[in-house]
Amino acid sequence: MDKFKDECGVFGIFGHTEAANMTYLGLYALQHRGQESAGIAASDGERVRLSREMGYVADVFDEDALSSLPGACAIGHVRYSTAGESKLLNAQPILIDCAHGQIAICHNGNLVNAKELREELVRSGSIFQSNSDTEVILHLYARSKARQIDDAIVESVAQVQGAFSLAMLTRDRLIAVRDPHGFRPLALGRLGDAVVICSETCAMDLIGATYVRDVEPGEVLIVSADGVRSLKPFPPAPLAHCIFEHVYFARPDSYVFGRSVNEVRTDLGRVLAREQPIAADVVVPVPDSGVCAAMGYAEESGIPLRMGLIRNHYVGRTFIQPQSSIRHFGVKVKLNPVRSILEGRRVVLVDDSIVRGTTSRKIVRMVRAAGAKEVHVRISCPPTISPCYYGVDTPRKEDLIAATHTIDEIRDFLEADSVAYLSLEGLLSTVQSEHGSYCRSCYTGHYPVEFPRDEATYLQLALKLDNEAVVK
Ligand code: SF4
Repeated sequence: MDKFKDECGVFGIFGHTEAANMTYLGLYALQHRGQESAGIAASDGERVRLSREMGYVADVFDEDALSSLPGACAIGHVRYSTAGESKLLNAQPILIDCAHGQIAICHNGNLVNAKELREELVRSGSIFQSNSDTEVILHLYARSKARQIDDAIVESVAQVQGAFSLAMLTRDRLIAVRDPHGFRPLALGRLGDAVVICSETCAMDLIGATYVRDVEPGEVLIVSADGVRSLKPFPPAPLAHCIFEHVYFARPDSYVFGRSVNEVRTDLGRVLAREQPIAADVVVPVPDSGVCAAMGYAEESGIPLRMGLIRNHYVGRTFIQPQSSIRHFGVKVKLNPVRSILEGRRVVLVDDSIVRGTTSRKIVRMVRAAGAKEVHVRISCPPTISPCYYGVDTPRKEDLIAATHTIDEIRDFLEADSVAYLSLEGLLSTVQSEHGSYCRSCYTGHYPVEFPRDEATYLQLALKLDNEAVVK
């Protein structure tokens, strides 16, 4: 589907006899945050062991793989990446052995100064095993002259900039780090005496853990047999929680940034109905992304909600088109219209975002072909006009339909009767945010953390490092 893609989900647990099994379950709940690779590193107090593969969590780990990861402490990672960089070396956790001992790392986000740091490290002799920006942190750690492990960790993470929610594991410590802007979520919980950290609270629900609080922006949490130590090594910085977590990335049953994603998403639909009303017979969500907002829209407008599109949940990436003469199934493989709901009706079609517009056009055509009299597209976020540089895979600016087309042109492209978006003010009102606390750069083009201006070079270095030819 035509969506922004979140890069990763992280999980960590300290002090549980079945740490690897719990991490497996946690990653299972976070699968929506990354489907290209999955990995777990576990420590038995003596040695950190690693298992990681390309593929879904359920396919990567079986009983044998999990039993090869003994110990009471583990971290895990699910990763999304673009096709070019889908290779095992870039899968996480990344594990190294250095003068401070073994350390493994998982990262959700993107470092904006990784290129400079990497070049400097390579010049002074570091040999990188992957293309990932995350590995920079491990090299900084390995080079630290600090005598105490905790000091070396703080020294290394204090040098990176950008978006980072990290889970790190040494022989006897679990470390959680969140960048001072708080771009990506990271929650802290308890499972009996064990400490749990994870990208979203839905991972805690699955293992029966209790949410305690978020790891705070700018906080380094070091969990060891001595307890939980909280450090604040970063200078204060303005908050920039990723608003897209609420719009699309996070699961609706999670709490992120202290708010229920379901409540925020349903509110987006309510505000959208107030801002962009239309006379219609039925509200139809694009499943699953538009469901919560459509419920809010229907509730506020009084127009009945009906599931006029049914999603096939069993379409995987391995779908094989059976013969060339019936290619181009496109969206039909994933969605099917319900004619009895759509025929002769004026339809409000609700989705959470439009990126390129190509999938939305196919869906509008599908709804019309099923007999809809009118199709009015309503989007529960503002027009997406700029790429993300903070750990989200996005098309280039020129491929974002709202960056290059007016609303009328988008309507014509989608072949809809009308198209309307939620306003930025409407979006921010649902998270009850002062204007300063959320990143909304993909709607404004104004970025809270500086990054190298050459977009092609930057994206290549930061997100798609495989093709060296593009690197200037
Ligand atoms: S630019 Fe958009 S997707 Fe990226 S962090 Fe900011 S709000 Fe999130």
